[in-house]
Amino acid sequence: MRQEQRSTTRSGGGKAGYPEAADKASLRRNNLGVVLRHLRENGEQSRTRIATSTGLPKATVSVLVADLIQRGLVREGELDRAGAVGRPHRIVDLDGRWICGIGAEIGVDHITVTAVNLRGAVVHEGRRALDVASLPPRAALTAVAELVTESLRAVGEHGMGTVGVALVSQGSVDAASGTVRVATNFGWHDVRAADELRALLGPGCPPVLVENDAASGALAEYVAARGTDVHELVYVSGGIGVGGAGISGGTLLRGSEIGHMKLDRLDRACACGRTGCWEVAVGLQTFLDAAADPADRVHDRSVDLAERLAELLARAEAGDPRTLAALAVIADDLSLGLSVLVDVLNPSRIVLGGYFAVFGRYLVDEAQRFVDRRRISPAAPRVVVAASALGLSNAAQGGAQLTLEPLFNDPSAVQVRATVSHVGPGAEPE
Ligand SMILES: [Zn+2]
Repeated sequence: MRQEQRSTTRSGGGKAGYPEAADKASLRRNNLGVVLRHLRENGEQSRTRIATSTGLPKATVSVLVADLIQRGLVREGELDRAGAVGRPHRIVDLDGRWICGIGAEIGVDHITVTAVNLRGAVVHEGRRALDVASLPPRAALTAVAELVTESLRAVGEHGMGTVGVALVSQGSVDAASGTVRVATNFGWHDVRAADELRALLGPGCPPVLVENDAASGALAEYVAARGTDVHELVYVSGGIGVGGAGISGGTLLRGSEIGHMKLDRLDRACACGRTGCWEVAVGLQTFLDAAADPADRVHDRSVDLAERLAELLARAEAGDPRTLAALAVIADDLSLGLSVLVDVLNPSRIVLGGYFAVFGRYLVDEAQRFVDRRRISPAAPRVVVAASALGLSNAAQGGAQLTLEPLFNDPSAVQVRATVSHVGPGAEPE
């Protein structure tokens, strides 16, 4: 996964330095990251269990945990008495009180800004309906900057620091230069979005990066699966565009243009200039067009997408034949594409996000049946299809997670907090 650049200087390095000291410092940095990532992936646990699971000596784990507590990254919690013989152990877990990241998703008809703490919990969220496709990029980014500023103020009031802002866009992005290369659904080409947003936020703003929405969504799902045995998944997001990305053992596998696989049985024209793309068959616009007449308010982009989808969900639940018929067609075409992904990627889990998740009960079962029927042999491992439980802000949440990623790779970049050990439990602004 991409590493954010840091200006922190460290001792022990340099050509004429002390190799042994440098090795020790780098070993310690690495081990701090091992413990912190272990807690993210497995949830709260005792020092003894961390030692057993990571293979680090117990005494080393104790020193590392003490260091992480001083940096405000880990905190002590309950006593672990479960099944233990002898003295109970104090549980340690990620500390959500001090540090957060901000994700700002720019969609075709909305912007969502979400601040997430180290534990993956949402601490602040702002959302606005915005017809991005009809605005120049600068105007859309100005609206994003307003929501981000609001979020920075809110987390500051909680006493938290923000390590970075990730602008999350659909289409292809160049993370290194912070550029949205092509976002066909809102007509952006080579927009230097990170630079623009940085300028709009003004001096003193946290580092700004740019990421693809499906990659961010995959990361959010992965973090949400913390403490379970899910260590690998493929995420497919349903909006006006359809995107996908995978994550395996904590490493993000950025999706190619899965929304543009040639799978549309009607060979309709796509915003990418070609015909027959999967996102034309299963994208949100196709669903809306099938479910409601053009004058219906579910087509009104000035109304928040969550509200419009809730309206359609209510119709489906009331048994409205037109909505149910539209969903049945989407379910068929979605299943077809997912079965291709299964054949190519062989994941153990597929998570559906965006509007697919809102209508999960109408789409997931059909997709699961289809994928099960297509299984090469009964002995082949089963792929589980599930709906995201993170809601429509999942890509923004993943963007926020992405800004926190460097801390999990190198916790020593976070300064020791002078006061942290004196802050009692119950002060967590979650
Ligand atoms: Zn296309």
